[in-house]
Amino acid sequence: MSQLELPDNPYLLLTPGPLSTSKSVRAAMFRDWCTWDKDYNDIVESVRCDLVKLATERDGYTSVLMQGSGTFSVESVIGSAIPADGKLLVLVNGAYGDRIARIASYLRIPTIVHDSGEVAPPDIPRLRRELDIDAEITHVAAVHCETTTGMLNPIEEIGRTVKEYGRIFIVDAMSSFGGIPFSMESSHADFCISSANKCIQGVPGFGFVIATHATMASIQGRARSLSMDLYDQWRCMEDGHGKWRFTSPTHSVRAFRQALNEFAEEGGVAARFARYRNNQRTLVRGMRSLGFRCLLEDRYHSPIITAFLSPTSPRYSFERFYQSLKRKGFVIYPGKVTIVDTFRIGNIGEVNCNDIRRLLSAVEASIDWEQDAVSGANS
Ligand SMILES: *Cc1c(COP(=O)(O)O)cnc(C)c1O
Repeated sequence: MSQLELPDNPYLLLTPGPLSTSKSVRAAMFRDWCTWDKDYNDIVESVRCDLVKLATERDGYTSVLMQGSGTFSVESVIGSAIPADGKLLVLVNGAYGDRIARIASYLRIPTIVHDSGEVAPPDIPRLRRELDIDAEITHVAAVHCETTTGMLNPIEEIGRTVKEYGRIFIVDAMSSFGGIPFSMESSHADFCISSANKCIQGVPGFGFVIATHATMASIQGRARSLSMDLYDQWRCMEDGHGKWRFTSPTHSVRAFRQALNEFAEEGGVAARFARYRNNQRTLVRGMRSLGFRCLLEDRYHSPIITAFLSPTSPRYSFERFYQSLKRKGFVIYPGKVTIVDTFRIGNIGEVNCNDIRRLLSAVEASIDWEQDAVSGANS
């Protein structure tokens, strides 16, 4: 048998997922698995168990894995948890909150959108009023870290308010889970959703949902789609001890097992949060010294990703900036907000402070537009 050598990545992904993974995570994909065999099902069970432990210290919780990108898991929760006579309130301050509202619209679920704009957190007194006047609202959905801007939403305060009014709380913790301290208890989440290729630093292929056994059992028969039926998927995994209803992303799951091992070796959420936060602070400090400005006020920043205002010089072009950084070994992310032109730089994945310092040198060497157009702008 010939020995294949695992290539190095040609550039670092400074994106919010897929992101740069370790070589050992990628190497874990170098064999095939039978989706119905116990060897593989045992891996699935260990992953499900670890995810629950990451989300809560309490008993009574369970998790379910769902094929597809993170959006598929969000859609499976929205489509499976909300009953036919239910009504959803979505807190929106970016593209991912908006996506939840769009999912609900496709599924013809009556929905109220609480839009706080792209640079402000949800308005809690307004949320309270909305829940107070509309008793038909059964579920509230919010995004923990809004990856559009990097905004860290006050998930605990939102959760507390939702519970004051006795509604079900759905949290899209996609880009924060494993990278920012979070628990089912403190957030009051009934459903927590994330995916393999974000802060746990696995490869794409599936997402996961955490809830109590009782909550999961309560949604039987509500799903609006067969392949997205969260209850059915969970039932199959529970009864079959790690079996999936349909073809499962075996290689992604095996890589995720390895990613979870490395996550624990690094020191869990606390260590990862510290590394990401250090990355983000180094990044913001360095970018500011090069004349760039952040979109959000500092108090709203998350350690996951940062949105920077595009330089105003007519000679600036994202495409040229992007290509220049890519040639130097870094891939950044285009902006997604609608109000102003931005670009984004992520800090998650197999990325450390040295990488960020090398990036900052690459940025400095890539600035080929009029220097005075960005200098002096330092907020
Ligand atoms: C990444 C992400 C998603 C899911 O996006 P996919 O492209 O479907 O993986 C959902 N919500 C948030 C906040 C995200 O960052």
